Amino acid sequence: MTTAYTRSPDERINWVRSIPFIVVHLIPLLAIWTGATLMDWAICIGLYVVRMFFITGVYHRYFSHRAYKMGRVMQFLMAFGGGTAAQKGALWWAAHHRHHHKYSDMQEDVHSPLKGFLWSHVGWILCNKFNETDYKAIKDFAKYPELVWLNKYHWVPPTLLGVACYLVGGWSTLIIGFFLSTVLLYHGTFFINSLAHVFGKRRYVTSDTSRNSFVLALITLGEGWHNNHHYYQSTANQGFFWWEIDISYYVLKMLSWVGLTKDLRTPPAHILAANRLRDGHPDIGMFDAKLAKAVAVFETAQTGASEYYRKRAEDLDALVKNTRQSALQIVRMPRVEPADAE
Ligand SMILES: [Zn+2]
Ligand SMILES: [Zn+2]
Repeated sequence: MTTAYTRSPDERINWVRSIPFIVVHLIPLLAIWTGATLMDWAICIGLYVVRMFFITGVYHRYFSHRAYKMGRVMQFLMAFGGGTAAQKGALWWAAHHRHHHKYSDMQEDVHSPLKGFLWSHVGWILCNKFNETDYKAIKDFAKYPELVWLNKYHWVPPTLLGVACYLVGGWSTLIIGFFLSTVLLYHGTFFINSLAHVFGKRRYVTSDTSRNSFVLALITLGEGWHNNHHYYQSTANQGFFWWEIDISYYVLKMLSWVGLTKDLRTPPAHILAANRLRDGHPDIGMFDAKLAKAVAVFETAQTGASEYYRKRAEDLDALVKNTRQSALQIVRMPRVEPADAE
């Protein structure tokens, strides 16, 4: 299959280092021998929902996008909660996510959907390139030593949770309550990097392929409104209208009533009304993705052609790339807000 962007050599999957990740996927099969009680299943669902909130409501909306405020102790507790999801530390997670928004769907994007579905879903995590935390990208939170500690020893929170599960109900609780729910949580989260860029509807013009999906919003407690989010990233809510279910936002709102979170940012009305797109209509994001794919097919076809045609193909290729670059520069120019337009 031709993908729009080819992966660089350091984007190869490191199978040896990925063994623990693969083993975690196999552990739930041990339930064939241990069996599972109703309590194990209840813990599995409970831990999925609670930890999904920590990932979307905290790792994503707080640490990546600063969509609301919290006190320092609460911030640590929430980062610890997110840590139990075994998706590394808040600083690692948020630094990579900020990078995704900066370069959405471009060659540099850590999990660009244009490098293939599996790459955007899980491949990028299994290669060496994105192992380290880019502390420069997350300076605002890296100034807290307790968060840096948690980021370095990111295995502590999930280990403690696993031990707690074992103490509560023995092996079957560990296997189903902890491991199965962790695996489901992985793929629920990863769907936003993969499915939410190919499946669903586009409401707003963005320079990427993000989409809105009701089903994904249910699975991820609100993250499925991904086109909304790429369009206007800094808000605590991602469901922009009352019918767009966004459980994480409801929880953040409730926490604000008791003072544990504050200053929740929501989109202004003029932002909601602007840049609307009738689903299925072409916009720069879809245009760019299709063009990138076309260029890739074209480049593949080029190999093997005669010298004359290869030269013409190269000229055309350069022209297409230039046009695309200028189109993207235009679309990425800062939006002029009505207030500044005077
Ligand atoms: Zn985001
Ligand atoms: Zn995205």
